[in-house]
Amino acid sequence: MAVEPDLKIELGKQGVFVTTLNELYNWGRRNSVWPMQFGLACCAIEMIATTMARYDLARFGAEVFRPSPRQADLMIISGTVTKKMAPQVVRLYNQMAEPRYVIAMGACAISGGPFKQGYNVLKGIDRYIPVDVHIPGCPPRPEALIHAFMTLQKRIEEQPLTGENRPRHLDADAQGLFPVPEPGAHDLVPPVNRLVWPLPAPKPDATEKQG
Ligand code: SF4
Repeated sequence: MAVEPDLKIELGKQGVFVTTLNELYNWGRRNSVWPMQFGLACCAIEMIATTMARYDLARFGAEVFRPSPRQADLMIISGTVTKKMAPQVVRLYNQMAEPRYVIAMGACAISGGPFKQGYNVLKGIDRYIPVDVHIPGCPPRPEALIHAFMTLQKRIEEQPLTGENRPRHLDADAQGLFPVPEPGAHDLVPPVNRLVWPLPAPKPDATEKQG
């Protein structure tokens, strides 16, 4: 049962700290999100700037960029995802342990951006893996990444541990491994993961025209 915020403040003044297991668990997760150390294109430069002294992502408990997906909680898709790179991105995501989160940073990562009509560019990584926060812009400034990070923290904070809206890592039936696409004759196969991208896939002839 949640404790009334006013009562909590009043008890705090008396030196009594009251919380719930749900709050404690989410507080721990929210303040220890470690991103994976990888970048895809120019947006990665803004991501790197976010960790420097001027913006100082360390204030949010996220300064430890891990070189291995096994030790990372957060994948920041910072840049253009080419169709050659998409399978590696999905593979790395599969290698991350739950709970794991994804921020798609910049126009390229969320939609293909200025290269949307390019034959070799994926029109959004959310066609293959679940994205928690999308950041528009080309490139988004470090403030935008910090805002996305705070949005992610807020979402983590509000997650219930039980019931229908519980996070994926607490749902035994949730999908764990996501299909890694393979290069086909004209596009990646499959062109989308239906479980994360329920919209209709492009018609085969349209795909052929786009290359
Ligand atoms: S969104 Fe703009 S800055 Fe970011 S990777 Fe694409 S082209 Fe580069």
